[in-house]
Amino acid sequence: MMDEMDREAHQKLPPVICYPVDTLPAPDLNLLSRFRAENVEKSAEIIVPPRDARCFEVPQGGFFRITSIEGPQVGDLNLWSRDNKNEKFYSGKTRALHGTHLTIGHQMWSSFPYLRPMATVVANTLSWYGIDPHGGSVHDVIGTRCDPYTHHVLSAGQNYHHCCHSNLTRAVSSYYDISPLDAEGIVHDVLNVFMCTGFTRDTGQYFMKASPVRPGDYLEFFAEIDLIGGLSACPGGDCSSQHSSDAAQCYPLLVEVYSPKAGADYSLWQSPPPNRYDQTHGLSD
Ligand SMILES: [Zn+2]
Repeated sequence: MMDEMDREAHQKLPPVICYPVDTLPAPDLNLLSRFRAENVEKSAEIIVPPRDARCFEVPQGGFFRITSIEGPQVGDLNLWSRDNKNEKFYSGKTRALHGTHLTIGHQMWSSFPYLRPMATVVANTLSWYGIDPHGGSVHDVIGTRCDPYTHHVLSAGQNYHHCCHSNLTRAVSSYYDISPLDAEGIVHDVLNVFMCTGFTRDTGQYFMKASPVRPGDYLEFFAEIDLIGGLSACPGGDCSSQHSSDAAQCYPLLVEVYSPKAGADYSLWQSPPPNRYDQTHGLSD
């Protein structure tokens, strides 16, 4: 009886937001939109083949756009600081700050001890989707990346080599000219571009459903620091049925990079410095 009353009382407590973001410096989207119009020009175009990945560089102050081009396709995005591969995208803290799915104005934060914005979402043609009745939405930071280890465990020992984790490992190994083992060590949890996901209300399990993405849809970012991006065209295709196999219809993804023009005016903006916490962790008390 007491347990029942206790449960009822506790379950009625209102949620408390863990990280109120009122004090989080907000990106100036009007300024970024001016930069996009006046300061940059297209400098590269990369096609990511289905069930494969590619890396690309974006200078700070530039932009990159990921576009669905031939059919509904989900992409798994990694980011690294160009000059320091140890500084990489931190999906967990990004989720804690902005929520389960990213849209315009949200930022992709980097790992400790750097913890600073790496990229800011400036355009999202799927923002109309919102949150569906199952709690699903688009562009999540709740999934990890499909990988051969989980697949091995769940499939009684099968090996599949074109999961996003492996695709990114091959791309990073080739881009940085490092061993696959070293490359695998810096591949990290992703932003699931275009993927429609959520957690089931009854069991709390991670779910996916067919992505609403159509050819021409895109997600665009402003590079807050010098970046290397890695993008995998997931073997799940639109992720309506399964991944970790060759069963789904898959399509390429397009990445376009826009770099600052010579003499472009960035005087009203500063690239965010690494986090200024002193890293003494109480040892000097
Ligand atoms: Zn995948």
